[in-house]
Amino acid sequence: AIEFKDVEKRFGKTTVLKDLNFTVAPGERVTLIGPSGSGKTTILRLVMTLEELTGGYIFVDGKPLTHTEKNGKRVELPSKTTRAMTTRIGMVFQQFNLFPNMTVLENIIEAPIHVLGKAKSEAVKEAKALLDKVGLGEKADEHPSRLSGGQQQRVAIARALAMSPEILLLDEVTSALDPELVGDVLEVLRDIADTTDITMLLVTHEMQFAREVSHRVMMFDGGQVLEEGPPDQLFNNPQHERTRSFLSSVQ
Ligand code: ATP
Repeated sequence: AIEFKDVEKRFGKTTVLKDLNFTVAPGERVTLIGPSGSGKTTILRLVMTLEELTGGYIFVDGKPLTHTEKNGKRVELPSKTTRAMTTRIGMVFQQFNLFPNMTVLENIIEAPIHVLGKAKSEAVKEAKALLDKVGLGEKADEHPSRLSGGQQQRVAIARALAMSPEILLLDEVTSALDPELVGDVLEVLRDIADTTDITMLLVTHEMQFAREVSHRVMMFDGGQVLEEGPPDQLFNNPQHERTRSFLSSVQ
C-alpha cells in the first residue's frame, strides 16, 4: 500500500501539492488525471523519492518512506533506509530513460545484479523471459537507439519488472510515442494488470486505457483531489464541472 498523509510539496515559494491525503491499497491500480500542472507527475516522483517531500509523510506498506514523526517533530530518515524501500518500487517515464550505451539486455540486468545482488546467469535468464513477455525476445543485443520508441518503452517496462516491484509507477508512458506505437505498449501494461497483483499508480491521458485497467480514478486540480471514484462513475457521471470540461478536452 502507498499512503499519503498531509503531503505538501513546494518548489521554492510555489506550493504544488497541499494537504494531500489518500491511500492506494495493495494490488490496487489508481489512475491520476487532471490538467497540466496539477501535480500528477510530482506525486509519482515523490513516491520514487526523485523529489524531496517538503511536508507530511508517505508510507509504503505502513513504513515511512522518507520522513517520520519523533516526539512530535518531523525528521528525515537515513538515506539508506529510504533507498532500501525504493528497490521494490519501479517507475517508467515518458521519455524511456534507458541507458544509451548499454544493450537492451544490459539495461535490464543492471539493477538486479548491482542492487539485488543476483547472479548474472539468473539475471540474464529472467531478463530474457521478460523480453519475451514484452514481445522483444529478438532484441536483447541491440542498443536502445536502434529500437522504435514503442520498443524502447517496452524495454523500460521489462527493466522495471526485473526488480520484481511491488509498486509500479507509470508516468504518461505513451505520451512521447507515435500513435501507431501506443497500442503495443498499452497491451503489455494490460497484460501486467491482468496477470500480476502489482500495485499501480499511473498518470495517463489515454482515457480508454484508464477505464480498462484502473480500479479507481482520481481527478486532480490545483494540487488537490477534486473527485475520485471507480472509472465508470468518474467518466460517465462526473460530479464537478471542472472534471466534465477536463474530460471533454481529452476524449
Ligand atoms: P503534466 O500533465 O503537464 O505533466 P502534472 O500534473 O504532471 O502536469 P507536474 O509535472 O507534477 O504536473 O507539475 C506541477 C507543478 O509543479 C507545475 O506547475 C510545474 O511547473 C511545477 N514543477 C514541477 N517540477 C518543478 C521543478 N523541478 N521546479 C519548479 N517547479 C516545478
